[in-house]
Amino acid sequence: MGSPQDSAAVRRRNLGLVLRHIAAAGPCARTEIAAATGLAHGSVTALVGDLVERGLVREDDAVRGGGRGRPGRPLRLAPRRALSVAVQITSEQLRVVVADLAGEIVWRESAAHHAVPGRPESMADAVAAAVRRAENASESMASPGRPAGVPTALAGPAANSVLVRIVIAMAGPVRDDAAQTVMAAADFGWLGPVRLGELVGERLPGVDCPIDVVNDGNAAAFAEYHARERRRGLVLIEAGTGIGGGVVLHGRIQVGSHGIAGEPGHMPVALDGPLCLCGARGCLVLYAGPEAVLGAAGFGEVLAREGLEAASGRLVEALTAGDARALAAVATAARALGAVITAITALLDVDEIVLGGLLAQWFPWLSPTIEARLAGRRALARGLDIGIAPGVLGAEAMLVGAIEFARRTVLSDPATVPQLAVGGRRANTPAGA
Ligand SMILES: [Zn+2]
Repeated sequence: MGSPQDSAAVRRRNLGLVLRHIAAAGPCARTEIAAATGLAHGSVTALVGDLVERGLVREDDAVRGGGRGRPGRPLRLAPRRALSVAVQITSEQLRVVVADLAGEIVWRESAAHHAVPGRPESMADAVAAAVRRAENASESMASPGRPAGVPTALAGPAANSVLVRIVIAMAGPVRDDAAQTVMAAADFGWLGPVRLGELVGERLPGVDCPIDVVNDGNAAAFAEYHARERRRGLVLIEAGTGIGGGVVLHGRIQVGSHGIAGEPGHMPVALDGPLCLCGARGCLVLYAGPEAVLGAAGFGEVLAREGLEAASGRLVEALTAGDARALAAVATAARALGAVITAITALLDVDEIVLGGLLAQWFPWLSPTIEARLAGRRALARGLDIGIAPGVLGAEAMLVGAIEFARRTVLSDPATVPQLAVGGRRANTPAGA
């Protein structure tokens, strides 16, 4: 064993192991890192040296425990060294945030994209322009002559900050191939596969960091997964425009063979139900989707006139007042959700099902019926501990998930961050690249 490639890969992996420990448990000493990771003390010292050269870790000036010299000098993450840009594409807007390695947001913007339906190039133009604005804003905030009153700046990046990852979250199935191909996006009139990451990259000369594309529901599921203590398996079912969601098992988003896993809205709940747009019959979205529920509750016109949030607000008022029609509409949705959740737990045995978007707003009225539907299985399988919970991140979930995805990717492979400039010269090539 032990080809040069193998040892380079092992070193790269160990670099991630050490950085993740410092990020999670820092400030901490080298001896603590060695004990926690199982690495030899000498290896930890060398790996920490590498991380310090990349600007990702710094030694505290203060010596802990009253001792002298290196051993007592704790190490901590330098989160502002590596910045990521997350872009969420909605039907009308691009929502953009810049965040550091601790997940703290340093800049944000929402702007209309004006993309031409059916023309992915025009969306790529808009995304690339938004990334440039994010990059320029981060740089001007970091420079000493920082312009006053950059209104969206929540906190400034450091002078040595580098952009290390761009993540784009959007509706539509995204395949697990090297290009992260968007297979189709009906919302934008994209009827065939689009290599969006490549299109955006072509429009950003000089930006050489990786660009990831993720499905927005999957990004939201990833965010809800990391926002919770229980961390084995989670399925998100989210109502917004239709019903979307995602599956996260052991920290990984599951997209399946064709990128279409994690679409609970198109799980059938009725054998001979009405025909769905997806080609199947009796899909969940036809019973628990916003249009179905709001229409059945008598708020179809409010939905058409004033939009989703207004109609959902009216529904919550009616439910609170005990309106029979509203309660019946939500009971139907809850029975359909109960069937789908039972099916999901039978197939995947996850420990958490999260109901997001509008379903989180309706959760108090959905929950009793869903729990009743699951009662039979719970009674037979003792110790079956499935949590059914409302989403905790609301409308931010997709952006938070995109940032979390970028952050964890960089923490796992710190070698993608270049070494700091030494004596005015910068070693700009990532190790192993
Ligand atoms: Zn369907």
